[in-house]
Amino acid sequence: MKQKKCPQCKNLISVKAPTCLYCGRPNKFVTNNYVKRKWDKEHKQEKLNNFRNLISNKTLITFMVFLIILLISLYKYNNS
Ligand SMILES: [Zn+2]
Repeated sequence: MKQKKCPQCKNLISVKAPTCLYCGRPNKFVTNNYVKRKWDKEHKQEKLNNFRNLISNKTLITFMVFLIILLISLYKYNNS
């Protein structure tokens, strides 16, 4: 198992340990990975939300265009 020195108490700790076993200092290696993964997850979620918004906006616009065309044809039909 890979080990590294704790920057605070200089004891050897596992690189995969979330915190130092001796002084409780957060393990930077693990913390960075955790933050990055969490950020990626949130970023993905954000992208998905943007995509959903885009789709619903398109649906709304399509619906409105359809409605306008329908109104125009109704108007023309009534006038002829
Ligand atoms: Zn320590």
